[in-house]
Amino acid sequence: MRRVLTGNPAAPGMALGRVRLEQPARFSIDNTPLPDAEVEAEVARLEGAFTLAREDMAELRRKLHGALAREVGEFIDAHAQLLDDPELIASLRAMIRKGHYRASAALKAQRDRLVAVFDDMDDPYLRSRGEDVGHVIARVQSALARQTSSEEKKLATRVGEILVTESVAPGELAHLSSHGILAVVAGSGSSYSHSAILARSLHLPMLVNVERVLEDLRDGDLALVDGVRGEVVVHPAAQDLAQYRTWQRDSLREGQRLAQLAGAETYTRDGHKLRLFANAERPEDIERARGLGVAGIGLYRTEFLFLAHDGLPSEDDQFAAYRDVVLGAGGLPVTLRTLDLGADKADGSGLVMASEPNPALGVRGVRLSLRQLDVFVTQLRAILRASCYGPVRILVPMVTDAAELVEVRRLVEACARDLRTAGHEIPDQFEIGAMVEVPAAALNVRALLEVADFLAIGSNDLTQYVLAADRNNDQLGTLYQPAHPAVLRLLAWVIGRARIARKPVCLCGEIAGDPTFAAVLIALGLEDFSMLPDRILAQRDALSRCDRGALRALAPRLLRAPDHATIVKLLEGAQSGK
Ligand code: PEP
Ligand code: MG
Repeated sequence: MRRVLTGNPAAPGMALGRVRLEQPARFSIDNTPLPDAEVEAEVARLEGAFTLAREDMAELRRKLHGALAREVGEFIDAHAQLLDDPELIASLRAMIRKGHYRASAALKAQRDRLVAVFDDMDDPYLRSRGEDVGHVIARVQSALARQTSSEEKKLATRVGEILVTESVAPGELAHLSSHGILAVVAGSGSSYSHSAILARSLHLPMLVNVERVLEDLRDGDLALVDGVRGEVVVHPAAQDLAQYRTWQRDSLREGQRLAQLAGAETYTRDGHKLRLFANAERPEDIERARGLGVAGIGLYRTEFLFLAHDGLPSEDDQFAAYRDVVLGAGGLPVTLRTLDLGADKADGSGLVMASEPNPALGVRGVRLSLRQLDVFVTQLRAILRASCYGPVRILVPMVTDAAELVEVRRLVEACARDLRTAGHEIPDQFEIGAMVEVPAAALNVRALLEVADFLAIGSNDLTQYVLAADRNNDQLGTLYQPAHPAVLRLLAWVIGRARIARKPVCLCGEIAGDPTFAAVLIALGLEDFSMLPDRILAQRDALSRCDRGALRALAPRLLRAPDHATIVKLLEGAQSGK
């Protein structure tokens, strides 16, 4: 029977395929008793998970350098000892064999029991050891879930399927798309998450926050995903299929129309020249961007190199990757953003603190880099070496204070000196810019402009921090509003101050490539936009319909608007010439 489930659109496009359900093993603990026949296999699964967890710890130990290794190393060693505790393993085995517990349920029960024992202790030091037990067991739980999900992932790689899952991490997404998945439907998530950004860059239609999707769909159901309307039609009827065919035809025609804009310059209707740059996270994006005619690469997210890499990429690995990006850009400027790990970009690297109470407000971006100097210096050296192959700008994420940028510049200069001494040809000048994505950096932008060569506004993060609404929290979907008057006022302020200081300012958050934001950004005075290559033609088209003169004249009223609805009304009036 035909049914429609609704969610939030996260990446556009339509897809027709069979459903592949991925049950969230990591979120559910199965408490049903284990049948006799499965007991020994479950013990083996448990032991496998312990082995994986030990390997994780060893890997983490290997990756730590310098002061951090001394600080964190002690904890790792304590955790590793717990993992080797024969009593812990023996009691878990007994729970599976005698109590017919499943491995994850045994781990949970054991954790609860041990934490309660530690909680009752008087000595605060011993009490705090309870936390370690919790962390170690969580690590084994996650290894257990990984064992399960990697099997599921293998199944999920059948071509022509729609992945239906609770949530998907950015790292998983790249893997899935290269294995023939047509679309992703997630029970939770937000359209501003890094997974959603990546899905758009991979042309993978994606819906998030689809209620009860795991309960309502069955493996093998035929489904039509509509990434624009935010709908999944299960068992589509003839009229749905007709709609799908119409969409295929229309998107082909629209593609052909827009293709004529490839390579063109971008002008507003009244002849004001704008510059469109590309956001890129994979070398393929560069090639595509060049074909579309861009002014350069406005944001290269280097963290994806780290997320995709097994262990930390070495200086030479990074140098080769950045050099290829610079060469691929064929003389256009490339803005390489230094590592922005932390918050939701944490998987796989082993660098990010596992248990920060509030990761989005924690050690991410430049904060992490300045604490992990070995890793940061390795990256800076690789970037500087790559800068011999074409114009490179260095962009620093999550800057809060001008002092952070000063410190980065000092490190860059020291790296350049060392490299020159070692015989490398390093350019004399480097452009170092700051991402403006922390409200303090935006409000205090005059100080930042004293020390930065250019600015890039990260409206994705700026929005979440201004509105105190996590960009990944689907519960807050309606609150996360990049066109909120408070956000627009900050954008106008930053753009205005940069123009006065005669320093380039680009906007590289998702709204830069969203045609529905074209008019408002022109009104605020923006001239440099950086977006996913896929967005360039449609945005060039939308920008070319804007009357900059009329929109700039509207700016004071826009900035006084009390709410989003008023802003929309004002813009509609300006666009229709009223
Ligand atoms: C942003 O925050 O707007 C941005 C461009 O950076 P990211 O999405 O990688 O955090
Ligand atoms: Mg950001």
